[in-house]
Order: sequence, then C-alpha cells, then structure tokens
Amino acid sequence: MSPRVIVVVLGKQGAGKGTQCKRLAQHLSIPHVSTGDILRAAVRDRTAIGLEVASTLDAGQLVSVDLVNRLVAARFAEDDAQRGALLDGFPRTEVQAGALDAILGDDGVKLCINLDVPNDLVAARLSSRRVCQECGAIYRDSDIEAISGTCSVCGGDVIQRADDLPDAILQRLEVYERDTAPLLAFYDQRGLLVRGDGDQDPQEVTADIRETLLERGIG
Ligand code: AMP
Repeated sequence: MSPRVIVVVLGKQGAGKGTQCKRLAQHLSIPHVSTGDILRAAVRDRTAIGLEVASTLDAGQLVSVDLVNRLVAARFAEDDAQRGALLDGFPRTEVQAGALDAILGDDGVKLCINLDVPNDLVAARLSSRRVCQECGAIYRDSDIEAISGTCSVCGGDVIQRADDLPDAILQRLEVYERDTAPLLAFYDQRGLLVRGDGDQDPQEVTADIRETLLERGIG
C-alpha cells in the first residue's frame, strides 16, 4: 500500500481549519478528521462519551488526552483513513503529538500547515459564527439561515455554539497559546511546518496550500 498522507492543520479556533480541511479532503481524496466534530456529534447523540464531555466542550477546555487518543486511534482504523487524513483539532498538545506518532508508527505526519490569523480577527469570526447542528454547515450571524434558524443544506437547526460565546472564546484562545502554540516549534524542528496566511479570502488560502502540497510532492 502507498504511504498514508497525514497532514496536520494547526491554527487558532476560527482560523478557517474546518473550511480548508473540507476543500483539501476533496482534493486529496482523504477524510477530514476533526476531533471537535467527533466530540460534538457524541454530545448531540447523547452517547456515554458525549454526556461525559459536554460541559468541558461548553467551557472551551480540553477533554482528557486518553479519551481523544482513543477516538483518533479508532478513526484511523476505519477504511477511508487508510490512505491518510487531514487532521483538524488534533494534536492539540505536545503529549497528543507524541501519541499521534505512536499511533502512526513509521508512516508518520507528512506535513503540518499552520493557518496564521490575528486574535482580534478570530474573535470576531467566532462570535459571529453560526453552525448547523446536523451537517456542520457554517454561517455568519447576518446570513438568512442564521436569522431563520434553518440550514439551507439539510434543513437542520442553525445555532450559536456555546463555546463561541465571549467567555469561552477567551478561554479557548488562552488554551491555544498555552497548549497548542508550542506544537509549531515541535513540527518546525522536524522540517514539517509550513505557514499559511489565513487572513485572506478562503479560496486564496486554499490555492496557497495546494501550491505548498505540490512543492512537497503531496497531491
Ligand atoms: P474544535 O472544534 O477543534 O475547536 O474543538 C471543540 C472542543 O472539543 C474543544 O474546545 C475541546 O473541548 C474539544 N477538543 C477537540 N479536539 C480536542 C483535542 N485534540 N484534545 C482535547 N480536547 C479537544
């Protein structure tokens, strides 16, 4: 089998990781694996894990490393992940990055893309963000779907995430600086880090990333 294409996408909450991962997943024909999406689905479906983590997610804190490692290992065991994955929201700490290496073995991370966006811009993006509870489609508070509360893709309920409220946003940005920002040096030391300017039109961000992927022989 050809080597797995594992690409880690880093960036603050609201940097556009989800949007870019969805587009790149199509381009590379590998799944977009978002630990936040997996956890939110568990909360929505009221599974045992969902009930355990709901308040942690609402407060913008990190769930336990053991739990998230188990979820990721299980996701990697699925058929569609055998060719690779775009990782969004994992790893989020150096401990998780070590766990990812252990899960992947020799066939490790091929590239880490950091989407760089200033704090004031991500805070503004997050506070105006509304999401469909069913399909995850993302809207702005001024969009008709947000105002009517109905998703135009699937008809699901469009809501504001509890962790997109002001206190939780501040909390998440603090957690990012403390726990996740050190991962930039971790991947840079391995020659795997590329920096993308996330403060531009999403299509331009995608074009930049695709160029980088080509330069690195991916996709
Ligand atoms: P996200 O959608 O990536 O911003 O994740 C939403 C929330 O899910 C986070 O604020 C955490 O509570 C939880 N979460 C997602 N990924 C992780 C992770 N790798 N480790 C710990 N908690 C996570």
